[in-house]
Amino acid sequence: MLRIEGVYLQPASTAHQAAVLIEPHAGWLEVQDAVTGTVLWQGTDYHADELLPGLPLRLGFADGSCFETSNTSQLPSKLKHHAKLSQIERSTVLALLAIVLIPLLCLWTYFRGIPALAYSLVPHVPAAVVASIDEQSLFTLDKTLLEASKLPIAEQTRLREQWLKDFNQAGSLQVPVKAIEFRDAPEVGANAFALPGGTIVVTDQIVELLKDQPDALLAVLLHELGHVQYQHGLKTIAQSAANAVVLAVVLGDLGSLQEVVVGTATTMVQASFSRDFELQADTFSTQALKQLGKSPNAFADALKAIVKSHDVDPNDEKGMLKYFSSHPAIAERIKNASN
Ligand SMILES: [Zn+2]
Repeated sequence: MLRIEGVYLQPASTAHQAAVLIEPHAGWLEVQDAVTGTVLWQGTDYHADELLPGLPLRLGFADGSCFETSNTSQLPSKLKHHAKLSQIERSTVLALLAIVLIPLLCLWTYFRGIPALAYSLVPHVPAAVVASIDEQSLFTLDKTLLEASKLPIAEQTRLREQWLKDFNQAGSLQVPVKAIEFRDAPEVGANAFALPGGTIVVTDQIVELLKDQPDALLAVLLHELGHVQYQHGLKTIAQSAANAVVLAVVLGDLGSLQEVVVGTATTMVQASFSRDFELQADTFSTQALKQLGKSPNAFADALKAIVKSHDVDPNDEKGMLKYFSSHPAIAERIKNASN
């Protein structure tokens, strides 16, 4: 039989006395004086405050008196049901929270946590590794898409020196440009791209296309300098590597991990930067142009000329080569770069 020791409090009074709560038969409660056994209250009409683990149990009676105990290991039969319900209620809330929060947490981890972690590793990649990524990338490109430049050496040198001079004037270079390489690229056409380690590759075709618009050509170079400055290439590699590791762990797909280890350089050349990275490089270019006292519209001019040379629809994100097929449609980027 239920028997709980506690105190009995008189109605509208602070007076209390040691008492015992018993349940002679289911649903019927009696509070007796602990010493004399006198019945202080009896009946079925009682209520309990919400039952919280670790807190005293307080039973209130219709006449305003109540019984309090910190021993909640046993409960009157009516309250057992109540306690079970509130426990279920609590666990339902927890389960619903988990249903909502766990996917959110996964999404956050995937889109913010992993990139943030990956980006934080970038400064710690040894310089020798960074340099070898550029060497491998250029080696692969030279084997496939690129040929030796047909620009006279003197012209290459003149352009390179002019751009490096402009680069130094345009802003504080945290990550120096490693090299500016010229290549003939009949298949690629008018294009320029930054390799992860800071090598900028410029095609003969873009030099030819913009030969009468030196500021527009400079704007393209400054865009690539933006990618170098913000280390977009290394960040992209780090993120895809981190994602591959996560996929390998979550899905047990070790193939994707192997691909990252073996194919980083080639993946890098083919992969385009994210929309955010492109827009950041675009902004870098227009701001650097302003610092150099040139029209920020030079970048939009360059984009328009490149689009025209490739005979593509500026609103079409597909079917265009890497430089301008990167996520933001070229029309949007021209609009952003035109002030
Ligand atoms: Zn770009």
